[in-house]
Amino acid sequence: MTVTMTPAQLERFQAKLLRERADAEERFAEFADAMSEVRAARSDASADDEHDPEGPTMTQEWSQRTAVLADARAELAEVDRALARIADGSYGVCANCGKRIAVARLDARPTAELCIDCARLQR
Ligand SMILES: [Zn+2]
Repeated sequence: MTVTMTPAQLERFQAKLLRERADAEERFAEFADAMSEVRAARSDASADDEHDPEGPTMTQEWSQRTAVLADARAELAEVDRALARIADGSYGVCANCGKRIAVARLDARPTAELCIDCARLQR
């Protein structure tokens, strides 16, 4: 079965992905900034008092931020993979069964690598 996505559709998804990429990058930069602030505040606190009562809170905040940062990084990688698939012509093809992924699904999730059926099976 040949996969046919019109150049206009591909272009639309590419634009969408590039926008998502810019968003994720922005978030990434924002949190990287926030994290260096936390890091600075943290080293101040430990210089004053090793047993700072705010210590655990800082640690919690730190791990939350680390998680957000990891999410943004994963999203960037996903978007990059989708863009690479657009470039090599495999975009919109299920990585598992090779069937075409519904455009409606790609609209909702432009980085989708699996068709709805395979995605359901993976859960
Ligand atoms: Zn599939």
